[in-house]
Amino acid sequence: MSEFAEKKLQAAEAACRDAFAYADGIARVNTEKVLDAFRAERVALTDFAASTGYGYGDVGRDKLDRVYAQAFGAEKALVRTQFFNGTHTIAVALYATLRPGDVLLSAVNAPYDTLDKVIRGTGGEGSLAELGVRYEEQAFLPDFDEYLAALAEKVRSCGPKTVLIQRSRGYSQRRALTVSDIGRIVGAIRSAKPDAVIVVDNCYGEFTEETEPTSVGADLICGSLIKNPGGGFAPCGGYVAGKAQIVDLCAARLSVPGQGSEVGCTPSGYRALYQGFFMAPHVVAQSVKTAVLAAKLFGDMGFSVSPDASEHRSDIIQTLTFRRPEPMVAFCKGIQQGSPVDSFVTPEPWEMPGYADPVIMAAGAFVQGSSIELSADGPLREPYTVYLQGGLTYEAGRAGLKFALEHIAACGAFEKNE
Ligand SMILES: *Cc1c(COP(=O)(O)O)cnc(C)c1O
Repeated sequence: MSEFAEKKLQAAEAACRDAFAYADGIARVNTEKVLDAFRAERVALTDFAASTGYGYGDVGRDKLDRVYAQAFGAEKALVRTQFFNGTHTIAVALYATLRPGDVLLSAVNAPYDTLDKVIRGTGGEGSLAELGVRYEEQAFLPDFDEYLAALAEKVRSCGPKTVLIQRSRGYSQRRALTVSDIGRIVGAIRSAKPDAVIVVDNCYGEFTEETEPTSVGADLICGSLIKNPGGGFAPCGGYVAGKAQIVDLCAARLSVPGQGSEVGCTPSGYRALYQGFFMAPHVVAQSVKTAVLAAKLFGDMGFSVSPDASEHRSDIIQTLTFRRPEPMVAFCKGIQQGSPVDSFVTPEPWEMPGYADPVIMAAGAFVQGSSIELSADGPLREPYTVYLQGGLTYEAGRAGLKFALEHIAACGAFEKNE
């Protein structure tokens, strides 16, 4: 059995050489950018020191902000362990830039699920809607030029103060937007309203291309440190980077007006954040290569995959559609077994609060919920699509896929597909 899986993996790998070399090339470019920023800021061991209390004059904190800003081609950045997760980081950017009576436009369909309550919640918790911010949405269209025209018209008619663009596909079937796509979207928005504040949800996108959306006119990018830019080392946190004025608004919102980015200590120190950012371009390439291998393997077996193995990528997410529950569950069991942590656990579909169908999740990560580490999940419903992401090392990603192949073979799914 194992020999069967190994043979399949070797054949797929041989066919992925060009895509792997492309991912490695992007990692080289981004690593040089990160090193340039470390060198320019003269990062030293003393910058990793812990801080306490108010955190006044925290050199390691302020330097890390500048390292992120330079590497991401931004005027300023705010990198903080006090951002709880990606949702909190994006929410801070929205609350920072919107005021009662303003309009928020989501440029590409609905935003990520967890932002729904932030934007439209009615529970009295102080959602944007409850503060008097109106919400509008532009649907993504299959024809990109048609979509851009519709978006410009939407911006003209609703006059948004802030426009949110989600780069990654997230849990949707649309493709990820490339940085070049985002540049054209920014152009369409600016043609209709030059002063709109353009915020990009950059989660899962960092370092998958040679530049970030800040290089094509976005005012702000936001992301989570337990995804790409934390490189698997950061234990928690988030970042925003972009125009200085917008980053300052975010600092005043995360902290308080009048104190902004000048307060906030990190008692555990900054080593993991610096080291993670240094590792991130390489780790992202490991994840991309794992995703490419999965696309090739399962695509060749007749399952539908997106993106396919040779497609240009702008996030680390791979979808695999199994059409039946058995191979989907088997795949997740394999990924779990190939994880360094909790390998002995068997993932089972369960009724998660807020979801209509049972959800299955496979993850065995050093950092809880970290999805730059190998993980797979999806709702157990037609067409039985799994979202696969991460892999700190290609070798471990490959091992997880090998277990997944074996589990799927054991449930007899190949015979039906081949
Ligand atoms: C993960 C993610 C978020 C939210 O991040 P959490 O850390 O889970 O709160 C938002 N948008 C996208 C596209 C994401 O992938």
